[in-house]
Amino acid sequence: MIGRRTFLATGAAAALARPSWAQDDPIAALVDQVSQEIQVQIVYGLSAFPTRHTEHRDFPQVEAWVSQLMELQGDVTRLAFEMPSGKTRHNLLLGDPTDPRGVILIGAHYDSTSEDPMSAAPGANDNATGVAAMLEAHRILSGAGLDKGVVAVAFAGEEQGFHGSAAVAREARAADWPIEMMINLDMLGWRPPDPSAPMVVEYDMGNVVPGNDAAAEAFGRLMAGVATEYTTLNTTHTDIWSSDYMPFEAAGFPAVGLYDGGVESPRYNTSRDVADVLDFDRVAQATRIVIAAVARFTGL
Ligand SMILES: [Zn+2]
Repeated sequence: MIGRRTFLATGAAAALARPSWAQDDPIAALVDQVSQEIQVQIVYGLSAFPTRHTEHRDFPQVEAWVSQLMELQGDVTRLAFEMPSGKTRHNLLLGDPTDPRGVILIGAHYDSTSEDPMSAAPGANDNATGVAAMLEAHRILSGAGLDKGVVAVAFAGEEQGFHGSAAVAREARAADWPIEMMINLDMLGWRPPDPSAPMVVEYDMGNVVPGNDAAAEAFGRLMAGVATEYTTLNTTHTDIWSSDYMPFEAAGFPAVGLYDGGVESPRYNTSRDVADVLDFDRVAQATRIVIAAVARFTGL
């Protein structure tokens, strides 16, 4: 027989601690379902397309690939919109955006760009990582029995000025979708020179509509709080800026985002934005923030 002190000195104590903690905390049990392996597959798959420039003639193949990925989780609605060039492209939506209990909309753009976007734009960090986080968050949250609807939307046309998200925001306003929070995920896996560099929690501070600021700030603070509880990431706050939450904010919806600071990377918006250099642990940790914040917001 070994004494308690001896037992605690072995690895067995650490191995036993985590399951009982997760069992007592339903949010811990959810965030522990995040699969880094699934996210790696998604990011490598998306960045294997030579380019995901929305105007490229082969972009419909990208749409089809992302749509198939989303169909693993449920029925996908293809929402057509027109680019300024006249080309028809599609946003891809998973879940019921009219859920009368209220909707949490998690969005990420799946298009990409670079210095030579018609031939080489892998867009691994910008923004295959956001798509991977969005899909893992939706997979886990949609099976969690929450009291609100969780909807995932993959946008095209972001890099030319939020054309896809603007179309969805117009539709959401016209049809009065009960969106209680729009969470935008754009760049999550940059490996910063300082490993302790914070993940940026973005929440709306003014912009077009003032009445939605308080809800966004409260959700942003919730995200920072759950980051402390459920991840190893530091966080900092900024305003929302230059991504797909902007049209939703302008349409009056509360809007927040997560972002890794990666515009500082020399690979940003270049043909060198490849998967091999990414930090997939940061992607998974960011996904845990989204899941924990949504779960707590809905009262789990
Ligand atoms: Zn982006």
